[in-house]
Amino acid sequence: MEIKVIKNILERNQNAADNIRRLADENKWYIVNVMGSPGAGKTSFIKCMIENLKDVFNIAVIEGDVASTIDAEQIANYGVKVLQINTGGACHLVADSIAEAIDTLNLLPKTVIFVENIGNLICPSSFDLGENLRVVVSSAAEGDDKPYKYPIMFEKADVIVLSKIDIVDAIGFDMQRYKKGLEAIKDKDLKLFEVSFRTKEGVESLVNYFYTLLDSYFKK
Ligand code: MG
Ligand code: ZN
Repeated sequence: MEIKVIKNILERNQNAADNIRRLADENKWYIVNVMGSPGAGKTSFIKCMIENLKDVFNIAVIEGDVASTIDAEQIANYGVKVLQINTGGACHLVADSIAEAIDTLNLLPKTVIFVENIGNLICPSSFDLGENLRVVVSSAAEGDDKPYKYPIMFEKADVIVLSKIDIVDAIGFDMQRYKKGLEAIKDKDLKLFEVSFRTKEGVESLVNYFYTLLDSYFKK
């Protein structure tokens, strides 16, 4: 019985995600689903993208949090369209609420939509939001064992951003172990960026990657 209920929830979500994908295709929106633990640097990643790309692309942000508008307020300071979703306890975003948010935002064609998911390495990976790209932000502070402990999250990621690399030596983060864990689940196609949003180390190649990706998408 319980299994059936879960299946229905996922099916309903998949239908909503498929609708978003269709709509995004028509309007040439590019949706990036940003996932990761609380405090990994999801908001810092989005802020970095805005700072470096807002003069070139239309950017909008959908902020998911259990409570508060702290992250949305930071984003609003950049003058980009932002909408906060408070899930009131739910530990992941669902496609229905993204559809509603997109509707409310009244977006221009050719807009990049960054969706900051709820901080959690488990269930957000099971809920398709109609995204074009999945980014997992994983901080060195969380430890080098995360790909081993949460393989599904990392397996389903298109891009992995390892953040806070400025503290790697101080905390004894084993980069080889971390990479081995990733390689075990993502044999080919591993897109890993090692960055520190604080010191800006590695940020340039991350920004260049997204610039090239978005530029070719919008030119198509
Ligand atoms: Mg955040
Ligand atoms: Zn959840």
